[in-house]
Amino acid sequence: MPPSYSTDIVIFGGGAAGLWLLNRLSAAGYRTILLERGALGGGQSIHAQGIIHGGLKYALHGAFSGASRAIAEMPARWRECIAGSGEIDLSACKLSSPHFYLWSGEGLGGGMKAFLGSKAVAGGTEVAAEMEIPVFLRGRGVVYRLPDFVVDTHSLIRALAQGHAGRIFTLGSDGTENTLTFERTGGHRELQVQGAEGPLRIKARRYVFCAGEGNQALSAKAGLTTPRCQLRPLKMVSISRAALPEVFLHVLGAGLGATPRLTITSHRDTNNNPVWYLGGDLAETGVERTDARQIDVARAMLAELLPDAGLDELEWRCLDINRAEPESPGGRRPDNASLCTEQDVIVAWPVKLALAPVLADQVMHKLREDGIEPGNADGPGNADSGLLAGIFPGSPAFARPFWN
Ligand SMILES: Cc1cc2nc3c(=O)[nH]c(=O)nc-3n(C[C@H](O)[C@H](O)[C@H](O)COP(=O)(O)OP(=O)(O)OC[C@H]3O[C@@H](n4cnc5c(N)ncnc54)[C@H](O)[C@@H]3O)c2cc1C
Repeated sequence: MPPSYSTDIVIFGGGAAGLWLLNRLSAAGYRTILLERGALGGGQSIHAQGIIHGGLKYALHGAFSGASRAIAEMPARWRECIAGSGEIDLSACKLSSPHFYLWSGEGLGGGMKAFLGSKAVAGGTEVAAEMEIPVFLRGRGVVYRLPDFVVDTHSLIRALAQGHAGRIFTLGSDGTENTLTFERTGGHRELQVQGAEGPLRIKARRYVFCAGEGNQALSAKAGLTTPRCQLRPLKMVSISRAALPEVFLHVLGAGLGATPRLTITSHRDTNNNPVWYLGGDLAETGVERTDARQIDVARAMLAELLPDAGLDELEWRCLDINRAEPESPGGRRPDNASLCTEQDVIVAWPVKLALAPVLADQVMHKLREDGIEPGNADGPGNADSGLLAGIFPGSPAFARPFWN
């Protein structure tokens, strides 16, 4: 009989959702391990624009429902964590910008003002002072400062993984992932893994899938029938040059109900050169375009919207990437984090980076509802993580943004 390791929870996937959950569960006393098949953050999380939304984006979609009100609390909740006084310690996470801005272009001034003052929008949105606005936007209509802010996703993933070295393992490139199977007895599963030093059985009280796009394949592997994933493709664009001003801006489209026509965030590459990362409608409508065509469209859009930004001699790149979400009627974008539970497996989607804390709340609530309290796993557990070190080939690397 192969040796056996027991724990409370096994998380699959080391993106923002899995790592946030690892922090919450460990702090609550649950014995938890996290298995990652690639690099930490290497799915959607490292490629997110890093905006911690306060809900305005939902209001723009006309979908400011009860569930999506949860997002209005996110900036304050994240800020506490970054200040080191929140539910988890993110004091090592860097802020790229303490604010996010919204520019309604030159045609929507009056309507925009009324909308932002309406009850649909959570508080904290103000007209930005001129000195906060990039020079090339001054005098070109009103720019609003939102309660949203921007985190550097690379430092976020590092901060989330900090202090969990004995709990995070790579399924690695040596084929360990391929040897992993779920053996099922009634409603309970056991993981069988074939490592370099022989086989190991891992018994957990709950398995939580936070694998983003990988949730669908994992669900099939675990013999689940209900969870279904939808993928919403995006074609993001990055531009870099030795000098670019820092910009964190939604540019609205023709009407208030539209996705921002363009969303710009600013980052740094490994040579410390500035990078603009372009999303919004440009990325959603660009999925059928070739890279060259998408770059042409982005170039024309920037020339039209920001003619005075001095954007010449740029280095352009495209990234094709999917947003992974639970299946929703008509492929609609879900407005809150959600779980799907089948027997001892929880399949989890944050839907947004900003909603990782809500997802962790939902998992903790589900565990308590199912009577899974911390620390009741039988047999060798985290104290015996030597057993795991003999099976899994070390810790996963950290992912890097694609422009590096
Ligand atoms: C271009 C883009 C921009 C975005 N911008 C924002 C934004 O500004 N603000 C915001 O709030 N949200 C944003 N989002 C959404 C946000 O990035 C995601 O909702 C969030 O990062 C999802 O986190 P996750 O941990 O669930 O998934 P992921 O980050 O995708 O992580 C899943 C992890 O699971 C691993 N994995 C996969 N299969 C397996 C397996 N079988 N076993 C073990 N591990 C596995 C993967 O390698 C990966 O590391 C953006 C998304 C995209 C694509």
